[in-house]
Amino acid sequence: MSDCLFCKIITGEIPSTKVYEDETVFAFRDINPQAPTHVLVVPKVHIADSNGVSAENSAVVAHSFEVIPKIAQAEGLTGGYRVVSNCGADAGQTVQHLHFHVLGGKTLNLEMA
Ligand code: AMP
Ligand code: ZN
Repeated sequence: MSDCLFCKIITGEIPSTKVYEDETVFAFRDINPQAPTHVLVVPKVHIADSNGVSAENSAVVAHSFEVIPKIAQAEGLTGGYRVVSNCGADAGQTVQHLHFHVLGGKTLNLEMA
């Protein structure tokens, strides 16, 4: 998608602090971190949100969740971490490209809403 912020980060058109990349996913530090570690894991294929996940593209989601523990280990998140994906306005999604927030490095509060 030509007008998508995360597509532009994936191509390098917009700079980011990359922490991991392979042929399927790109991961970088959130510009407004909500925890000591706040990494965004982004499938390279443009999927707007979790409503756009289908049998045809769900392998990139599975792969994202294979990568997330590797990132957590590299970040030293031995005490655990949280994975969050916002979908739509009520969840506060601000970038319409599917992504997984990986949060850790402190005891996270338990509020879910
Ligand atoms: P969401 O609100 O779930 O759509 O998450 C979007 C996230 O992208 C937010 O946590 C933002 O802080 C983050 N973000 C926005 N622009 C950038 C950027 N240029 N580089 C890194 N993170 C960004
Ligand atoms: Zn995109």
